[in-house]
Amino acid sequence: MKTIVLYGKPVSEKIRLSLEQKISKLKNKDIIPKLSVILVGNDPASEVYVNMKHKTFIKYNCKSDIHKLSENATKDELIDLINKLNNDHKVHGILLQLPLPKHLSSQEVISFICPDKDVDGLHPMNVGKLFLGNPSFIPCTPYGCLKILDFYNIDISGKKVAIIGRSNIVGKPLLSLLSQNFSWGNATVTLCHSRTKNLAKITKSSDLVIVAVGVPHLLKSDMVKEGVHILDVGINRISDKSSKKGYRLVGDVDYKNLLDKAQSITPVPGGIGPLTITMLLNNTVEAASK
Ligand code: NDP
Repeated sequence: MKTIVLYGKPVSEKIRLSLEQKISKLKNKDIIPKLSVILVGNDPASEVYVNMKHKTFIKYNCKSDIHKLSENATKDELIDLINKLNNDHKVHGILLQLPLPKHLSSQEVISFICPDKDVDGLHPMNVGKLFLGNPSFIPCTPYGCLKILDFYNIDISGKKVAIIGRSNIVGKPLLSLLSQNFSWGNATVTLCHSRTKNLAKITKSSDLVIVAVGVPHLLKSDMVKEGVHILDVGINRISDKSSKKGYRLVGDVDYKNLLDKAQSITPVPGGIGPLTITMLLNNTVEAASK
């Protein structure tokens, strides 16, 4: 079987094109969508992600600023900053870059973000609305997964879907989105995690497998059936002396060995990754429009 590679770039370009129009309409009303990102500590991967987000917003004539707090920042300092941004009418979206240092609870801190500015869709109110079938902001990576399925006409209605990974930012929202009675949903979804027994049995009977774990090459060829669709959300650095940086990025899926078995598969890099930032831009433009 010739596997279709689900590149994120054309999907992202299509969405960005329509966002450009919305951004220029807002500009005519003197509204410039603005995202404020909060970065606590010096995690190198988080710094890379935050800078990528910043550059994208600037490229699309939106505003973005980065608020850096030290590794030892207290919960009160963080909440003070969030309150300041909540009250700043020029800020439309607030994003708390995760993970936070261990002494801070992301769930607790996120609950202080004004739900109307919670463009990552992680505030308890937005999580609840999503589970009730009335989402305000769909979390960016799951949203990117929906967009890629839609762009490549992968219809999951009535199909079996296995999601591996039950995080609040990827697995749980996807469970809700794909199982509900939405145009993009109506699948029968199984949410798997580190305690799941017989993972391969579940993945092998699935029409679509989405992997968001953070373990390189976790999903192997013998764990899926011929003709499966695969979305690989994982981003892992593995050492590679032949690369200038000394590492390369791989996903959670044994990509090479799945080519010719899967019907379609996202690459890493170049699959879901580019869409996450695009959906953040989308959600911030939506917040500014509201
Ligand atoms: P988390 O660490 O929050 O969650 C990982 C999940 O994987 C947990 O539910 C864990 O189970 C489960 N898990 C761990 N080991 C296994 C295993 N051997 N078998 C089955 N399940 C397992 O991860 P995130 O959701 O934050 O991220 C997952 C991956 O996606 C990472 O590589 C991350 O970098 C990437 N990512 C990519 C994004 C993008 O833009 N493309 C955005 C966000 C994340 P348990 O709950 O039992 O511990």
